[in-house]
Amino acid sequence: MAKIAMKTPLVEMDGDEMTRIIWKQIKDICIIPFVDLKTEYFDLGLVNRDNTNDQVTIDSANRTKELGVAVKCATITPNAQRMTEYNLKEMWKSPNGTIRAILDGTVFRSPIMIDGIKPFVSCWKKPITIARHAYGDVYRDTEYVVDAPARAELVITYKDGRTEKQTIFEFGDRGIVEGLYNTDKSITAFARSCFNYALDVKMPLWFATKDTISKKYDHRFKDIFQEIYDNEYKTKFEEAGITYFYTLIDDAVARVMRSEGGFVWALKNYDGDVMSDMLASACGSLAMMTSVLVSPDGKYEYEAAHGTVTRHYYRYLKGETTSTNPMATLFAWTGALRKRAQLDGLADLEAFADKLEKASIDTIESGIITGDLNSLLDHPNKQVVNTEDFLKAVASRI
Ligand code: NAP
Ligand code: MG
Repeated sequence: MAKIAMKTPLVEMDGDEMTRIIWKQIKDICIIPFVDLKTEYFDLGLVNRDNTNDQVTIDSANRTKELGVAVKCATITPNAQRMTEYNLKEMWKSPNGTIRAILDGTVFRSPIMIDGIKPFVSCWKKPITIARHAYGDVYRDTEYVVDAPARAELVITYKDGRTEKQTIFEFGDRGIVEGLYNTDKSITAFARSCFNYALDVKMPLWFATKDTISKKYDHRFKDIFQEIYDNEYKTKFEEAGITYFYTLIDDAVARVMRSEGGFVWALKNYDGDVMSDMLASACGSLAMMTSVLVSPDGKYEYEAAHGTVTRHYYRYLKGETTSTNPMATLFAWTGALRKRAQLDGLADLEAFADKLEKASIDTIESGIITGDLNSLLDHPNKQVVNTEDFLKAVASRI
């Protein structure tokens, strides 16, 4: 059988630990036998990031800007313990942070829904996609520990010489201060990515912030979204039969819990970080959560929402077989292949991505699963297998 051809290569960002092992297995078992796979390979494993002084991460993000579609394996974000474990030159920044800073944009996370795995929130019938603003706020903050009585001030010095000064707090004793920022440019791009994505998947868009308390900062997000909606998207949304809905974050959380799902929920950076972990746990397993970074100019980087599954990797290194769930990483590949196919007009490659996703869902629904799903799947004869056998079962169904 002839393999399915590709036109433009994907940017392939390899990663660390257990997910690096799974990465190769997915390619070898589920993709290369069927597709004449074209990628430009960047090794973002911690060893190579250290060897290249993290240049490889920057190069891979810049290449994504040129080629348009990337697929990324989970990577270690170094901490003190990793400094010793890998004998690092420096505590390199989070690769995802670096990639997001270069591509800008919004991270969309959605659970892979399976018949037989009921979300813990029993009214959820359709997936909820979280759209997380991936720029600024607490992730790019400036923090300070005040160690004696002091006045903290907010000073803005304009290039034209104007200055503005406000007192933040008169400290009578020790305390802490934090400075945050965002830009109209990034918030505007965030809004457009969300409206475009909602139109793409034909689902309503919800947006929530704490604008009643944060009357300037959060309010700015609310106003920009509304303005862009009214000027650019209102008609398109009406034609597509979907709605845009803004509400206070507290109200949104309460409504989400009572909803049946089936919408895109846009959130500021921190809210999106926290709520996507809530959503992933409520849907059963971190291993079933997909993630894609969409830049304002339409570049895509697909990945799993989980990390490198370190605990499984240490067991793997001891020679034990592990039953790590490859679903989210597999969906990163299918997402990237499908997007590439759409951009290059390759119908058979797009059909392959659909088939591979369906084969993997059918495998789980037939009872063949990895260990993490054992307590979640309702099925009369479940069979827990290792990662490789799971992927072989998927490939046999394509
Ligand atoms: P993690 O790798 O997501 O794993 C946390 C736990 O969740 C695992 O120990 C495992 O539980 C379960 N789990 C996650 N993915 C699974 C899968 N595919 N199949 C089965 N079980 C799965 O998070 P972490 O342990 O906090 O972080 C490990 C490393 O990943 C860190 O170095 C961190 O920097 C990095 N990280 C990277 C990214 C990224 O690249 N996007 C994101 C998050 C974390 P059990 O052990 O109970 O089975
Ligand atoms: Mg998080």
